[in-house]
Amino acid sequence: MKIYEKAPAKINLSLDVLRKRSDGYHEVEMVMTMVDLADRLSMEELPRDTIIISSQVGYIPLDEKNLAFQAAKLIKERYEVKKGVYIHLDKHIPVAAGLAGGSSDAAATLRGLNKLWKLNIPLEELQALGAELGSDVPFCVKGGTAVARGRGTELEPIGAPPQCWVILAKPPINVSTADVYGKLRANEIKNHPPTSQLLQAIREHDFAMLCRSMGNVLEDVTLELYPEVRQLKDAFIRLGADGVLMSGSGPTVFGLVLKESKVTRIYNGLRGFCKEVYAVRLLT
Ligand code: ATP
Repeated sequence: MKIYEKAPAKINLSLDVLRKRSDGYHEVEMVMTMVDLADRLSMEELPRDTIIISSQVGYIPLDEKNLAFQAAKLIKERYEVKKGVYIHLDKHIPVAAGLAGGSSDAAATLRGLNKLWKLNIPLEELQALGAELGSDVPFCVKGGTAVARGRGTELEPIGAPPQCWVILAKPPINVSTADVYGKLRANEIKNHPPTSQLLQAIREHDFAMLCRSMGNVLEDVTLELYPEVRQLKDAFIRLGADGVLMSGSGPTVFGLVLKESKVTRIYNGLRGFCKEVYAVRLLT
């Protein structure tokens, strides 16, 4: 038997840090949703009790550093599965981009192995397992649109935002999430995003208000460290995207665009100075 799972990329419509906690984690409030840009995973049982990962790309780890490997190991140990699995990752989500590619692969592995090994683990339990692997994994297990609080693992599902195009551009730099959070002065943030207004915009399907209400407190840190991310953001605005924001800790910047007629022009404009550009739909 072979199981296939899609692992979509996530974007942050908002990312706020409320404070730094005594356990070292940041207390966050984020609105997250998924876009139709996805890795594709296949999972097959192996006769030997081992986990093997392969991928068509050569620049991600394929050993225990891979989040899909860690997810498989966790589920095997926790549910005492004495079988092996071969997982192939067909990567399409840019790596270390702020799009939770690794977390989504881990989530897809949990969902896929639950089916392959007929474990019947309820979704909430899979999410709790995912929280042991990373803060973004529980959201990726269920997908949809949600507000994430606490260290990012307390989820409140909400309705989908109004449908639109999402253009994503990733400059050729790798940003370490830990580095960006490390440089953030959590208690001195002046411009917190208007999260309640963003939630109202989503509830009322008000696209213009949604675009106005997006915000990410990590932007200032990453834009300061990498001026090319700022230039990219400016280009999106100049080319006429309706709402523009950096996702996660970056460096990917995305633009929301309502009219299809604008998409090609913005896409081509960005391709002028960025090789990795994608135009996709929200996953609603
Ligand atoms: P986050 O914001 O959670 O740090 P990200 O979207 O910025 O995630 P990822 O694409 O998840 O970044 O990659 C972060 C690092 O994780 C990479 O440097 C990569 O080596 C490692 N990694 C582990 N497993 C995977 C995987 N399945 N796919 C991609 N990268 C992975």
